[in-house]
Amino acid sequence: SLNAGVIAVQGDVSEHADAIRQAATAHGETADVTEIRQSGIVPDCDLLCMPGGESTAISRLLQSEEIAPEIQVHVEAGKPVLATCAGLIVAAADAGDDRVENLGLLDVTVERNAFGRQKDSFEAPLSVTGLSEPFPSVFIRAPLISEVGDAEVLAEWDGRPVAVRDGPVVGTSFHPELTPDSRIHGLAFFGD
Ligand code: GLN
Repeated sequence: SLNAGVIAVQGDVSEHADAIRQAATAHGETADVTEIRQSGIVPDCDLLCMPGGESTAISRLLQSEEIAPEIQVHVEAGKPVLATCAGLIVAAADAGDDRVENLGLLDVTVERNAFGRQKDSFEAPLSVTGLSEPFPSVFIRAPLISEVGDAEVLAEWDGRPVAVRDGPVVGTSFHPELTPDSRIHGLAFFGD
């Protein structure tokens, strides 16, 4: 069984746990999911989710609980991470916001709350590299990926990148855990 961790200092956690278990089953695996609120757990995890929520709060708690450096070590070891929405903001190289200490797990620049200016939240079917059918994507005050460095764009909406991969790390502007479709988790953790 795989040890899966969901960063749970703040944000939507149980939906990611369900999606991880579902993706594992679809790949003939099982996953034990642990909610992470303190240091010392990430080193035992095979894979990690960094959920959406409020990126400034998540960032502050990852630093004060000393979880942030453990996530960096996890990625340096080549183990997978799926970072969604606020998780993407924290995982990025730069979010242009002093209250967010970026972990630099993904070579992208993001802008908080800059996506979908007319409507704060919307849903759109997306074609995603590696998935044969469009993925139903929920955007909630989503970050804009404004610059992509050494990372692969997996999906675009309205001509803008909304899913990226940088080595073992996949980041999405949208919330793949909010639809009963675990294919993005499968892509991030099992490669297909
Ligand atoms: N707007 C949030 C932030 O900037 C992210 C939104 C989300 O995770 N749904 O932290």
